[in-house]
Amino acid sequence: MKTDLSNPQNTLEIIRRHGFTFQKKYGQNFLIDSHVLDKIIAAANITPDDMVLEIGPGIGTMTQRLAERARQVAAVEIDGSLIPILEETLADYENIHVFHEDILKMDIQKLAVEYNGGRPLKVVANLPYYITTPIIMGLFESGAPVENITVMVQKEVADRMQVGPGSKDYGALSLAVQYYAQPYLAANVPPNCFIPRPGVGSAVICLTRHPSPPVKTRDRDLMFRLIRASFNQRRKTLQNGLYNSPELGFTKEEIAAAIETLGLPAAVRGETLTLEEFAKLSDLLAV
Ligand code: SAM
Repeated sequence: MKTDLSNPQNTLEIIRRHGFTFQKKYGQNFLIDSHVLDKIIAAANITPDDMVLEIGPGIGTMTQRLAERARQVAAVEIDGSLIPILEETLADYENIHVFHEDILKMDIQKLAVEYNGGRPLKVVANLPYYITTPIIMGLFESGAPVENITVMVQKEVADRMQVGPGSKDYGALSLAVQYYAQPYLAANVPPNCFIPRPGVGSAVICLTRHPSPPVKTRDRDLMFRLIRASFNQRRKTLQNGLYNSPELGFTKEEIAAAIETLGLPAAVRGETLTLEEFAKLSDLLAV
């Protein structure tokens, strides 16, 4: 019989019966609120033909709901002590494949080929917060076919992903995420929706991948190095930030000329530039 795991009593009973202890190092905060689970599932826009990749299924609370809507679910869990629990809670589902692996080491491209004929996956997760950025950037940069990513993250990180120039939260993460996807904040989630309660607020963010990048640049790598250098020294002018970066090797004159050609003031700060301006700057410096 299927157990409703979003009921906190049921979650606690399973955890106790299996002698499971939460591991902080794996960012384990399990969801125990069915309304929040419904919101995540709705935001992910899953259809019966979809393959979903769930990162960190925990005891399988969200996995069950995903399997009821999608054709196939691949759930990747690093913690070996959760595998016997998942075998029990997901026993009645034939369309779930649990992988005992580290998501950061997994070949998502291969997964999409083997389980989805190479077609794009949808990623859904209540993420382990300690590796939010490497997971999301890894999914985008690997070139694996990913249609959208709907994830619970720390509220502050969700804010950073969706803002533009002029906000104190604007930074390298905003630009990197917006280069690959259109962000949309689906819900704010308070700490009491989890066991144990995290020390921070959370939010569900949906990242829909652009069919092609919103800006064109001849050297994407250089553009991201320029972005990193600009925000590493946020309080410096763009010119000094780029000149001081060990990742770049431009002279002061080259940088000043590029900034002038862009039509920006000599003392402009990197935090005021749009993605399009960073793309143009990288094209000017790449020659
Ligand atoms: N999905 C469950 C839920 O909502 O109740 C658990 C979410 S919990 C915030 C994060 C999950 O990710 C945990 O199960 C944790 O063990 C797992 N995890 C942490 N690091 C991981 C990694 N590198 N690869 C795969 N899973 C990981």
